[in-house]
Amino acid sequence: MTHIVEMKGMNKYFGKLHVLKNIDLTVEPGEVVVIIGASGSGKSTLIRCANGLEEYESGKLIVDGHPLAPKGGNQKALAEIRKEVGMVFQQFNLFPHLTVKKNIMLAPMKVKSTPETVANATAERLLNRVGIGNQADKYPSQLSGGQQQRVAIARALAMEPRLMLFDEPTSALDPEMIGEVLDVMRELAKEGMTMMVVTHEMGFAREVADRVIYIHEGQIVEQGKPDDVFDNPQNERTQAFLSRVL
Ligand code: ADP
Ligand code: MG
Repeated sequence: MTHIVEMKGMNKYFGKLHVLKNIDLTVEPGEVVVIIGASGSGKSTLIRCANGLEEYESGKLIVDGHPLAPKGGNQKALAEIRKEVGMVFQQFNLFPHLTVKKNIMLAPMKVKSTPETVANATAERLLNRVGIGNQADKYPSQLSGGQQQRVAIARALAMEPRLMLFDEPTSALDPEMIGEVLDVMRELAKEGMTMMVVTHEMGFAREVADRVIYIHEGQIVEQGKPDDVFDNPQNERTQAFLSRVL
């Protein structure tokens, strides 16, 4: 079976700063991996590497069978990976001048040459799926944060990704909107989507993750099933972190 993500001895620097240290990580089809750790530990950089948004300096990275060599890899592999990996950010990053529906239609039409009628039908289906079918013709600024983030998820799904990356998708939301976004993610996980999720929502991690990874100063220092990591952390760094956040 092909791993969806395979990182081996991966190192990433920003100038002299060694941000990811010898990362060994594989993600299997259908797996939900939640990445936790303190601010600045390298969580965003790690998942941004998984779709080639960040280059890495040494080691190995293969995404859904496409090897992406260090220092930018080759453009063909990068293009393939971008097509197959959806990403949702803390800031929703919707196009403000496009309606909700057009936001979702854009990438399939541009990148995959999907006919407009097909893209339109897909967008409507996805908007219903994330519970905002009635918002299709509004502009992002007319929606709440929770609704905008659900549009962002629908937009990523429109490309039929093999892997979804989430970087703190609920951190910019008012508390009352966090649940509606986590619900959509929970459904996606149930349907078998492969996901890498950076989040501080420990309840979600415990419930939805197949595996929790704790990263400290650019190193994976502990990983395991959520109940094991949360209830019985082995590494003292993990223990200290969890005692601060739980
Ligand atoms: P996290 O998501 O866990 O908060 P990041 O992956 O964003 O951590 O950052 C890891 C480290 O890399 C931090 O020290 C951060 O300041 C640094 N860093 C992140 N992005 C850049 C960048 N584009 N240029 C230089 N340093 C960066
Ligand atoms: Mg981050």
